[in-house]
Amino acid sequence: MKKQGKIIAVSSPSGGGKTSIVKRILKDYPEIIFSVSVTTRPKRANEIDGVDYFFVSETEFEKKIANNEFIEWERFYDYYYGTLKSTVVDNITKGNSVLFEIDVKGALSLKKIYPESVLIFIDPPSFEELIKRLKKRKTENETDLEKRIDRAKMELSFKSSFDYIFINDELEKVYSKIKSLIKEILNKE
Ligand code: 5GP
Repeated sequence: MKKQGKIIAVSSPSGGGKTSIVKRILKDYPEIIFSVSVTTRPKRANEIDGVDYFFVSETEFEKKIANNEFIEWERFYDYYYGTLKSTVVDNITKGNSVLFEIDVKGALSLKKIYPESVLIFIDPPSFEELIKRLKKRKTENETDLEKRIDRAKMELSFKSSFDYIFINDELEKVYSKIKSLIKEILNKE
């Protein structure tokens, strides 16, 4: 019999390193479906519509809120981000596991709706290191950067609500631990 699909969420403050970890999980476990979120944030140069996010206008996003299409959504900085109900429902009923890369509040909302979901927090080695990584990334302008730093403080204060916390000091080391955890989760009945 096919095992039940698992719900796994990976969160961290911006710059915490979750995107590279999520990409590696998806490569190592091709059976896991990535939950593509909907956002009104402008697309970054390396992103693909429909793969990294569904990029929509504010009006389209608000229409989806009104139509009750989201499991959860957040207004994050100046943009909306939301998880589509259909992604979760369609996959879980088919027995597929779904991986979410969402913010801390989104992850906690997910847990409320699906208590069996597993929440993983990627913790930056220090606050100073987080700021350094954010600045190095250069994807944001100064105002956005300030907002992300403020938001990071709030996100870090929620980490104790997560099921697992991994300190991202050395990517290879931390990833091998996460990879083992994912295997364990997928193999559970
Ligand atoms: P970014 O703009 O850097 O891609 O994402 C900003 C934040 O929004 C990240 O913490 C990301 O994980 C989070 N995020 C992405 N999609 C969703 C979603 O569907 N719901 C929520 N709550 N947060 C999301």
